Amino acid sequence: MAKTKQTKKFDIAVVGGGPSGRIAALRLARSGFSTVLVAPAASAKDGRTTALWQKSISLLEDIGVWSRIRENAAQLRKMRMIDDTGRLIRAPEVVFDSSEIGLEEFGFNILNRDLNAVLEEACASAENLSVIDGTVTGLEYPAGNAVLQISDGRSVEARLVVAADGRNSFIRKAAGIDVKHWSYPQSAVVLNLDHSLPHQNISTEFHTPSGPFTLVPLPGRQSSLVCVETEDEAKRLKEMKEALLEAELERRAHSILGRFKLASEVQSFPLSGLSATRLIAERVALIGEAAHVFPPIGAQGLNLSLRDIADLDKVLSAAFLKQQDIGGPEILRSYESGRKSDIRSRTQAVDLLNRSLLTGFLPVQLVRGAGMYLAGKVGPLRRLLMREGLAPGSGLQLHRSSIRH
Ligand SMILES: Cc1cc2nc3c(=O)[nH]c(=O)nc-3n(C[C@H](O)[C@H](O)[C@H](O)COP(=O)(O)OP(=O)(O)OC[C@H]3O[C@@H](n4cnc5c(N)ncnc54)[C@H](O)[C@@H]3O)c2cc1C
Repeated sequence: MAKTKQTKKFDIAVVGGGPSGRIAALRLARSGFSTVLVAPAASAKDGRTTALWQKSISLLEDIGVWSRIRENAAQLRKMRMIDDTGRLIRAPEVVFDSSEIGLEEFGFNILNRDLNAVLEEACASAENLSVIDGTVTGLEYPAGNAVLQISDGRSVEARLVVAADGRNSFIRKAAGIDVKHWSYPQSAVVLNLDHSLPHQNISTEFHTPSGPFTLVPLPGRQSSLVCVETEDEAKRLKEMKEALLEAELERRAHSILGRFKLASEVQSFPLSGLSATRLIAERVALIGEAAHVFPPIGAQGLNLSLRDIADLDKVLSAAFLKQQDIGGPEILRSYESGRKSDIRSRTQAVDLLNRSLLTGFLPVQLVRGAGMYLAGKVGPLRRLLMREGLAPGSGLQLHRSSIRH
């Protein structure tokens, strides 16, 4: 007779093995919740890099993984923005320098495959954390708690399900949460480059009429590139012969890093956005790209997701101390109300910057140009923008002199 598999019980089930899911599982397990992570293994083919800002690095320190990631990460000390639109109204160059706000660096750039490998290893050996290599195929509430069906026939029961299962989230759909979805007429061409000149830990963003062209330092004489282009042009770049592509990219970078040599495969990602209309449902909280997606401009996506995780952990830990039900409606509402404005403001800021580049409408160009001019000239405004760029609400209160590492 076939044995029925037992349903194991946990405080929290995290669904999804991208960076959001793994970091959430590690954070919540460290806070003392018995946690299960249901996740298929991360793709070893992800050639992208992720720039993480100060607050995100602090979270990685808190969960004990930063020292292992740091050795393969590059410091981001300065950010340079250059108007390369060639339009009638052009903004002057602006340089944001981390030392101006008392920081050694704004953050670090990390290869996704290094980040994922360290997180996978940490999850496998963390206390309070069980990992199930599988996909969730069902969400039910037979007797109050949430029960997840897993692809291997197992099931788990939890007081709270944290959905980190990405932009096509199964949990979001199963919980009946709608989304707003939009797309842009652009794709991001993404690759890594070796170069003959040092980057000096400066990230450079050229603003072009088809979108930003951004070089972000990696360790040594290497940088990652995110080049936002029209869909046709992105396809053309992706199909170019290696030597021609290197020469074309060097031309677009005005040779600021010398000669280019391709150091990875060329990937492209169509630009789109998504916003969940709610962040919570019965015993469900959304985090990461299950809740919000926007174009890879300004390195905001995962940084925003890590703020979801930090806030969720804070709300749940407080509920735990008061012996409240961590999956109850009151607690979940508190998580949602705390996250809404950060998610809305980041989504709008990225959308606005991208659209302001695409438009040929003169008044919009004028406002963008004036904004960059003022950021370059007015010190207090520039410092406020730097702090707000790192984390919302930190504009007036960031006092840490550097990131510990
Ligand atoms: C080109 C590019 C550059 C970027 N650069 C930056 C940057 O510099 N800085 C930054 O902060 N952000 C950046 N981002 C954004 C960042 O990459 C994303 O925010 C981040 O990867 C999202 O992680 P996630 O874990 O939420 O989702 P995902 O990485 O999509 O992970 C979702 C996971 O859920 C799993 N899953 C799906 N369905 C199920 C199921 N039913 N059961 C179990 N598991 C399931 C999937 O297999 C996947 O592993 C960039 C994005 C792009 C496209």
